Amino acid sequence: MDTVATLASGVFAGNRRQIARAITLVESMRLEDRTAARELLVILRGRPTSAVRVGVTGVPGAGKSTFIDALGVKLIEQGHKVAVLAVDPSSAKTGGSILGDRTRMSALAMSEQAFIRPSPSGNHLGGVARATRESVVVVEAAGYDVVMVETVGVGQSEVAVSSMVDTFLLITLARAGDQLQGIKRGILEMADIITVNKADGDNEAASRVAARELRTAMKLITSDPHARRPPVLTSSSYTGAGLLDVWQAILDHRAYLESTGGLDERRARQRRDWMWSLIDDELLESVRQIAAVKRVRSQLEDDVMAGRVSSVEAAEEILSIFAHHVPAMWSRD
Ligand code: GDP
Repeated sequence: MDTVATLASGVFAGNRRQIARAITLVESMRLEDRTAARELLVILRGRPTSAVRVGVTGVPGAGKSTFIDALGVKLIEQGHKVAVLAVDPSSAKTGGSILGDRTRMSALAMSEQAFIRPSPSGNHLGGVARATRESVVVVEAAGYDVVMVETVGVGQSEVAVSSMVDTFLLITLARAGDQLQGIKRGILEMADIITVNKADGDNEAASRVAARELRTAMKLITSDPHARRPPVLTSSSYTGAGLLDVWQAILDHRAYLESTGGLDERRARQRRDWMWSLIDDELLESVRQIAAVKRVRSQLEDDVMAGRVSSVEAAEEILSIFAHHVPAMWSRD
């Protein structure tokens, strides 16, 4: 087993095996690993980097991995080092991550300048998001200057990803007439850049129309007329058309954030929100783990669902068990 210092110097040196081990350590939920992981992260954070952090979302099949593969290869040609991480809390249920999979990014996976890591497993979004957020620190310390975090465009995982990146890219498709219904408003509001993907062959014209419609729609979504409006582009990973335009939009967004002081502000806000979300998670998990809560939980849930007990009463019962256990929990270690 490596010491924290060995791991840290391996990561700083860009050693792939040590990077992988460091990520395994920060992904671990074991209490003794958490202490080592914290020490490691303190050392790694000590060396500031200026990596570009991009979140990539879109429904399954939108072409995210193909896009990351194709753009990543172009960025490596330009001299960048590209890391791809993922947040996919469903991976535990489906028996393996469907995201960040090496086989889905075959061109990028061949490159020494790329590092691809599938989503940490776990069906608990908070834990998966924590592990990925800490993995971002590891890959940046290892010299990867472009970090892409992929997530499926369903559920809450895009909120988690948008809170760990500087720029959030939404990959969508031209689907005759229904592009607005197909995309949740919340995701549109989070997007810093949108690309209508698979704009090739028979789809090219429809993609342009869809992009124009989305541009109009975005005017309605951003009520502040002075607010920055996310650019809506078109791209194809098959022909390569538009990929570097999306990259330029990412750089423009980054420059915009830096010029307005928004980058520091965004990261500061993310750190604050992250602190609270760790507390939320830890508290909730602690409550669920109390034996007395476990004993009453399913009965209470049934009672609430059947209308025999009100939600408020049930919550109070669980919280009172928690309150009763607090002193014992604090002396846990
Ligand atoms: P993901 O689930 O969002 O990661 O989507 P994938 O990258 O796995 O792509 C889903 C399907 O769309 C695959 O069959 C790809 O070959 C196809 N696809 C991906 N990008 C493009 C593209 O630019 N043009 C076209 N025509 N098909 C694409």
